[in-house]
Amino acid sequence: MVGGGVIGLTVAWRAAEAGWRVTVHDPAADLSGPTAAAAWVAGGMLTPITEGATAAEEAGYGLGVASLRRFPEFAAELERASRLPSGLRPEGSLAVGLTADDVTELRLFADRLAHLGRRCTVLGPAQCRALEPMLSARVFGGVEIPGDLAVDNRALLGALGEACRRRGVAMDSRAVTELAELTADQVVLAAGAWSSALVPGLPVRPVKGEILRLRRSPGTPPPTSRTIRAAVPGGHVYLVPRHDGVVVGATQQDVGFDTEVTAGSVARLLADALTVMPELGGYAMAEAGAGLRPMTPDGLPLLGRLNDRVVLAVGHGRNGLLLAPITADLVLGALLAAEPVLAGVDIALVRPNRFSEIAANARIAT
Ligand SMILES: Cc1cc2nc3c(=O)[nH]c(=O)nc-3n(C[C@H](O)[C@H](O)[C@H](O)COP(=O)(O)OP(=O)(O)OC[C@H]3O[C@@H](n4cnc5c(N)ncnc54)[C@H](O)[C@@H]3O)c2cc1C
Repeated sequence: MVGGGVIGLTVAWRAAEAGWRVTVHDPAADLSGPTAAAAWVAGGMLTPITEGATAAEEAGYGLGVASLRRFPEFAAELERASRLPSGLRPEGSLAVGLTADDVTELRLFADRLAHLGRRCTVLGPAQCRALEPMLSARVFGGVEIPGDLAVDNRALLGALGEACRRRGVAMDSRAVTELAELTADQVVLAAGAWSSALVPGLPVRPVKGEILRLRRSPGTPPPTSRTIRAAVPGGHVYLVPRHDGVVVGATQQDVGFDTEVTAGSVARLLADALTVMPELGGYAMAEAGAGLRPMTPDGLPLLGRLNDRVVLAVGHGRNGLLLAPITADLVLGALLAAEPVLAGVDIALVRPNRFSEIAANARIAT
């Protein structure tokens, strides 16, 4: 396994459970603290579709829903295997708007969700605040989506690392420089935004995301219980609950391998968060971080066999936490040379060779 982010660890754990002898290669392989992985900074929303989804992401909706459905059982199995909390939160999400135009957009979003078979409820301002008392008096209305989930990404990574250890997965803290240097007969590539360094031509690029962590201070109201997504002037902001605070996200910038957190981004995220929940102003500013989303041209991952030795589990973009359970199922299927049939999922959407240049270049590289 090349990469020990959320995808690498999930696949490693599942593969070890299925009887494979697994080694995870990752410079951050001891997983005891902050890592370069996007999964370490991520917000933790498990929402198969959001207001700003691209057409391709909408096409991949079935994949997200299938993974969301697996999450509760996946989390329960992980807790049994690791004896640690998985960080899963079942309270759902609430999308809110501050203006009449925002609420019109949200109603259209609710129609799309209903058309896709998702349960959701359009709410007035007082109903929104009854659900989440910290919401600003400026909130004009919202849509509650009870089926969405959220996860504390760091708890999840900790539990995955421990489940791997208990299953005998070996950890190697050297960075892989070439796939050819590995002696394993099967190699799963899960190196996130760095994957194209190992398979030249792989259409995965880094998309920077900055994110804040606010911690509840004494005397301030408790954190939200639902994930809050809000239209704010100039974009969207989200607040994902943690037991001791909220995560505020996130920026999205195509600026290569840059993980610097800028003062402007921090100011904007804070201003947006406080517009939606002014009382967060009393919380402590615990952390500002940045990570690199591994993005493909169409926003959907590349999952499956690349050649007789290499299986790809890359390009999860904005949804790697959400898609971890279904990725493990698809990758295990590919390792066993079986094409899994997954209800409601169009596997062709994530075929690794759907961008023609990969196949041509990968033959040279591996
Ligand atoms: C700000 C932000 C917010 C996000 N919020 C969400 C969210 O709310 N919900 C959601 O589902 N997703 C979210 N994501 C996306 C999610 O974090 C990614 O999709 C996911 O982390 C991808 O998982 P991965 O394991 O492929 O990559 P990563 O988590 O980035 O892990 C890749 C690993 O590969 C290792 N590696 C790299 N190169 C090598 C090498 N040469 N040899 C060995 N190891 C190597 C790295 O050290 C790293 O540990 C967010 C991302 C960001 C940046």
